[in-house]
Amino acid sequence: LVRLRARLARSQNSLGKGLLTLLSREHLDEDTWEEIEDTLLTADVGVASTQELVERLRERVKVLGTRTPEQLRTLLREELLTLVGADLDREVKTESGLETPGVVMVVGVNGTGKTTTTGKLARVLVADGRSVVLGAADTFRAAAADQLQTWGERVGARTVRGPEGGDPASIAFDAVKEGIAESADVVLIDTAGRLHTKTGLMDELGKVKRVVEKHGPLDEVLLVLDATTGQNGLVQARVFAEVVDITGIVLTKLDGTAKGGIVVSVQRELGVPVKLVGLGEGPDDLAPFEPEAFIDALIG
Ligand code: GDP
Repeated sequence: LVRLRARLARSQNSLGKGLLTLLSREHLDEDTWEEIEDTLLTADVGVASTQELVERLRERVKVLGTRTPEQLRTLLREELLTLVGADLDREVKTESGLETPGVVMVVGVNGTGKTTTTGKLARVLVADGRSVVLGAADTFRAAAADQLQTWGERVGARTVRGPEGGDPASIAFDAVKEGIAESADVVLIDTAGRLHTKTGLMDELGKVKRVVEKHGPLDEVLLVLDATTGQNGLVQARVFAEVVDITGIVLTKLDGTAKGGIVVSVQRELGVPVKLVGLGEGPDDLAPFEPEAFIDALIG
């Protein structure tokens, strides 16, 4: 965790440092406030959140009078924490059924890191003593099932797969059936994320979801979003949120961007908390999203 924090800090703290430098200027004139706004927008904080934050900062700085670096840091930390939401429930739930395994569906656009995230999540669960079955329902991308199976072998989880181009819903069904037969604790289902048409996506994910729910409740639908795609990724995320009820967001590739502000805008946009973050390609590079650690890394 310490290592992950350090990595996050390296990639993130240009935003916080930039903000603190601007806020420390002797004269906080309109140009400076505009620069602060630009800094936030560039970091993908989003328009609404940027406006809200700048308004709060203006008020609080006015009340403050003197501005020591430590005061500014505390103030910025508090306001960013409020924006990110310190008290949201960010637990990934996997224990809905008493008799049946918990089921987690992983959705998102291809290339965002769905399969990798599914593998890493399996590793976390297995390390926690839970038995996991993987469902390779991404039958669109040819290599996805192999990739998932490799992850499964690496972490000690069985992979249920079907023929290439097969029906994702029937694979999801089989995976849950297998999970029940094996008395597994959790079934993780990797899905396809082709955004050809909204109805196509809706049909496919909707069917996977309905089929899974024949066995019992679905614990989580995690939406994987690539942090490096910024506002563009947000537009795509919105389409998924319209198609299935997302219960949590996994923000991947945070190691490759200084635009950590996407955490704020995606939660606000979709009304769903960021639960996990991806900080690299390796098996240990998935971490729970911790608002305080994140903000501290952001401010530096
Ligand atoms: P999918 O098409 O959504 O299933 O995407 P993949 O899981 O195949 O991931 C696409 C690429 O992104 C792969 O090269 C992954 O190794 C890489 N990737 C996934 N998550 C992360 C992350 O958190 N950080 C970095 N740097 N790369 C990641």
